[in-house]
Amino acid sequence: MPALDELDQEFTKAWADPEFVAEYHRLLAEFVGRETPLTHLARLSEVTGYHVCAKREDLNHTGAHKINNALGQALLAKRMGKKRIIAETGAGQHGVATATVCALFGLECDVYMGEEDTVRQRLNVFRMQLMGARVIPVTSGTRTLKDALNEAMRDWVSNVRTTHYIIGTAAGPHPYPHMVREFHRVIGEETRRQYLERYQTLPDYGIACIGGGSNAIGFFYGFLNDPSVKLVGVEAGGEGVATGHHAAPLTAGSPGVLHGSYSYMMQDADGQVVPTHSISAGLDYPGVGAEHSYLKDQGRVQYEAADDAEVLKAFTDLSRLEGIIPAFETAHAFVPLFHPGRFEPGSRIVVNLSGRGDKDMERAAQLLNLGAD
Ligand SMILES: *Cc1c(COP(=O)(O)O)cnc(C)c1O
Repeated sequence: MPALDELDQEFTKAWADPEFVAEYHRLLAEFVGRETPLTHLARLSEVTGYHVCAKREDLNHTGAHKINNALGQALLAKRMGKKRIIAETGAGQHGVATATVCALFGLECDVYMGEEDTVRQRLNVFRMQLMGARVIPVTSGTRTLKDALNEAMRDWVSNVRTTHYIIGTAAGPHPYPHMVREFHRVIGEETRRQYLERYQTLPDYGIACIGGGSNAIGFFYGFLNDPSVKLVGVEAGGEGVATGHHAAPLTAGSPGVLHGSYSYMMQDADGQVVPTHSISAGLDYPGVGAEHSYLKDQGRVQYEAADDAEVLKAFTDLSRLEGIIPAFETAHAFVPLFHPGRFEPGSRIVVNLSGRGDKDMERAAQLLNLGAD
């Protein structure tokens, strides 16, 4: 608790300091490449009968939204005088974003990664190592993201004097869900401004995919006070929510305690965490940020799930129709567009295109039988 209290105080002070905020925005522009474009998806619009735009977080440095948060937290760590950074990673995207900002600031970097994921995502392991990070394979539990998070928390409580722990999503104990949302707010704020400037109106719908919930909460936050903008969060339906093999705690979980927060999660009758399944390692997490649980209970955001098979089809369709290869995670957010009658014809829709699909090409090639004849 003292570590979390200290972090809460330091973040609150930093976020109220115009110099800190200016430095964060300077690096978002110079290093990350913000602001990201809002792209009208003309062919997808024609096929679906909606007016569809995408917020292009895939065009950020390192290929996804995650760098917004990694950069903000690394700046905070520097301000707090911490010389060492640790992080957990699933698909490796957050590990790469963290290794990147550590190289930028000359901070020592250790990344915990489930052993299973170090094999599935070899290229990201190489990227992290190239930038000077140490990748520590985690062999406990299911050897995936949840276990990596456990190990990182253990490390943090033992080394808190020298070390800052950069959590990669808007989940875990306070102040993380709050702080991570603040570092991703820029997504929704840019989108709202860009949309109004171009179309002189707001969209009818905003859609985002949900793992722990960071890209979604940053995107939704720009529109929470606009009741006419309906918000939709898409979780990982895996083999189908009815099969039990999924990662959709908001759609099919129940309230419980995981990693220091009370939120919807996937658990059995005894409160034990049940294994998750998803085509995308980045959504393969049994919990979700507490603010999403609140927005679900409040009814402000509607949450639903997309199955692996539908996701693979949306991944292919977006690639062929628009020349944009999304991450598997991101492809979830496009699935509702292909459900006939899901939205009123002609609806104006913005999808948060959270990341690009380079990291998923090997798996996609296997699943889709790609390759020269
Ligand atoms: C990690 C990741 C996600 C899922 O994480 P959230 O915290 O829910 O945003 C989604 N999309 C991409 C591209 C990712 O890399």
